[in-house]
Amino acid sequence: MGSNAKETIKPAQGQKCDKCPKNASITLSYGPHHFCENHFTQFFENRFKKTIRKYKLFRSGEKILIALSGGKDSVTLLHLLSKFYSKSNHLEALIIDEGVKGYRENAIKAAIDNCKKANVKYTIISFAKEFGITNDKIMSILKNNPKLGGTCAFCGTLRRNIMNKYAKVFKANKLATGHNLDDEVQSFVMNVFNNDFERMRRMGAAAGAGMVDHAGFVKRIKPLYETPEKEIIAYCAYKNLNHYSQECCPYSWSAKRNEYREMLNNFENRFPGTMYSILRFDEELLPFVAPKENEKPKMKLALKKCKKCGEPTEKELCKACEMIKILKIQKNSKGIKSSENKVSKADKSKTCAQTKGYYGSA
Ligand code: SF4
Ligand code: ZN
Repeated sequence: MGSNAKETIKPAQGQKCDKCPKNASITLSYGPHHFCENHFTQFFENRFKKTIRKYKLFRSGEKILIALSGGKDSVTLLHLLSKFYSKSNHLEALIIDEGVKGYRENAIKAAIDNCKKANVKYTIISFAKEFGITNDKIMSILKNNPKLGGTCAFCGTLRRNIMNKYAKVFKANKLATGHNLDDEVQSFVMNVFNNDFERMRRMGAAAGAGMVDHAGFVKRIKPLYETPEKEIIAYCAYKNLNHYSQECCPYSWSAKRNEYREMLNNFENRFPGTMYSILRFDEELLPFVAPKENEKPKMKLALKKCKKCGEPTEKELCKACEMIKILKIQKNSKGIKSSENKVSKADKSKTCAQTKGYYGSA
């Protein structure tokens, strides 16, 4: 377990478990709750099952495709889904290789190892094969054309395209992602700061729940939506789950999200319960901002199939295909040199790991 995460959840000396006479090994300040290892595990797993029931994330018999990166969140998701739902549901995993040298290979190894242990079938889809470009290449193009946007924006769109497309190919009813409480709260606050109302409307435990039902979209679900990130780190450590825990993707320093993570973690440390409070506010707000019934048919009619890949879109090309088109034009016109392919941290931005406090350097 990373040192900062450990510090935050370490119980006071001599603190007893709330449920049994044993010494507590973890304190959850927002309760506050003090638990021994066994009772923490029980609390953690019960909350996971409760989230699935409360938000009706899936029904018995449905096929669930798990988006698996090999990091702690998706590995925990795979572990819990296979522990509790492998008899009632058909589980399969989708591993996406974005093409980031020196990082992705190791995470993929962990992902495969977990699938084998859980006896879950997996498929690896790469950006290179799917779109003819890797994230490393995208980064080098964007470096020369910063106006086009950040690598994460491109990467995220391409990943969503693959997830939705393959969820349909594999005939999955639901696509499960490892988004946790911290991710959801960061997204909410980012949407407020960016005045991004449309994105806010699409939030929730069942992503896109407020949007139109359309055969072209497979519903995305977030069973860890109510689970704090630090507790996932603790659970992985207690359960000895093999996951990729080194430095995050080298491009993560360019993600604005890290700044939001740090700000919200500071708030949570000073005022425990802040994250849950923001999540509940978001949930109270959702019914008011979700599209009204009379808006939905219009939205549905506006959708057509992307000319290139067949994914639902309002325009001729979907966002992913549009991005690939732009990238390829730039690639051909500039002639990227291989020396430009290296990742460099040009400013003082923090990395994803620094803001998560894995290395005690946040
Ligand atoms: Fe993609 Fe950014 Fe995540 Fe790296 S940090 S995998 S570039 S979204
Ligand atoms: Zn497309």
